[in-house]
Amino acid sequence: MSGWESSSTARVLWPARPRKLAKVPFVELADGRLQGVVSSGSDVERVYVSSVSAGSYAFSCSTNNNRPCGGARGGFCNHILGLIGEAVLQYGAERVSRYLRVEGADANQIAETMRAAGPSQGDSAAAAQVFSRFLRHLAYLELAPTTAPLPEMQWFPPTRAVV
Ligand SMILES: [Zn+2]
Repeated sequence: MSGWESSSTARVLWPARPRKLAKVPFVELADGRLQGVVSSGSDVERVYVSSVSAGSYAFSCSTNNNRPCGGARGGFCNHILGLIGEAVLQYGAERVSRYLRVEGADANQIAETMRAAGPSQGDSAAAAQVFSRFLRHLAYLELAPTTAPLPEMQWFPPTRAVV
């Protein structure tokens, strides 16, 4: 174990597999939802806040300016599918499927099973909260390097740690 790892009071959960942050910079299983921030494929200034509720699979996707995502009318958009894929990389398929209460051994199966259930569009009320959490995480990048525990940093993948 490295110094910062053994000195952390929070258990460090390594991602199941390293993932790329450019496409989905933030993903979490929280508040009964899979939720996160997904980059726009075409516009670097724009991000989408996407979520799927556990159990009901009610989904929502909107921009950081709270405009509804055109792709999420009536079904999962590519942002939500991307979010599911990255969540499986980050947490592993078993943990994601258990949290969302869906059968599925991989990201495709999890997404397809939820789609087959015909989920409804949820409200995007939580989007602002998810986005502000993301910004708060980003703020840690401004902090000086330290070995003091920052448990909220755990979503960072362990690739190329800067020492
Ligand atoms: Zn979308």
